Amino acid sequence: MKNNNKKSLIALNSKITKCKSCSRLVKFRTKIATEKRKMYLKESYWGKPVSGFGDYNAKLMIIGLAPAAHGGNRTGRVFTGDKSSDFLFECLGKVGLSNQSYSINKKDNLKLKNAYLTLSLKCVPPGDKPTKQELINCSNYLRKELILLNRVKIIIALGKIAFDSIILFYKNNYEYNTRGVKFIHGDSTKLPDEKTLVSCYHPSPRNVNTGRINMQKFTKLFSDTTKSLS
Ligand code: SF4
Repeated sequence: MKNNNKKSLIALNSKITKCKSCSRLVKFRTKIATEKRKMYLKESYWGKPVSGFGDYNAKLMIIGLAPAAHGGNRTGRVFTGDKSSDFLFECLGKVGLSNQSYSINKKDNLKLKNAYLTLSLKCVPPGDKPTKQELINCSNYLRKELILLNRVKIIIALGKIAFDSIILFYKNNYEYNTRGVKFIHGDSTKLPDEKTLVSCYHPSPRNVNTGRINMQKFTKLFSDTTKSLS
């Protein structure tokens, strides 16, 4: 059965890209887009909020923290054009959740299969550190995504902030008792509506370079997690 909410999701994503609710983030995303990184000086940066992307009928949601300054904030698509994206898509391609193992720009023909990618915060924050209020402001969009993506059975949270934003949704909308609920890489948490939340380290260069995560472990987690979806 298809998800009938496709139109609403498209409308939501369009609304997200116009959002200016967080003044600090509007200023920061614009500054990055104006100053640019040397290697991208000839490119026109997106410099706006980055909405979710993927299969509207997905049974798997993958959530990260926020767009990268010179990744999503440059290319306009979530997990596109930076080192974390390279790592993530090498894995998604291997496990068959995407049609290719790279995500470079909006014209690269990337398609997700049975997966939808989104972010806790749709704008890049300075130092990758959002304020509590910014996360609260943006949580309204995530709430709508979680409601509209009504075929999702499993959520993989890439990092603790992404994990916490999902837990906050259930706390606020399902009176979920969060006592003892913790982000532990590889652990699964049963949510009150029977979805499963899987904790996974973010595929950031820092986590990869320090050996906290490697391609083999990362791919195994995705492969084990998605076996039950078919
Ligand atoms: S972080 Fe979210 S709420 Fe804040 S400006 Fe960006 S899209 Fe809007």
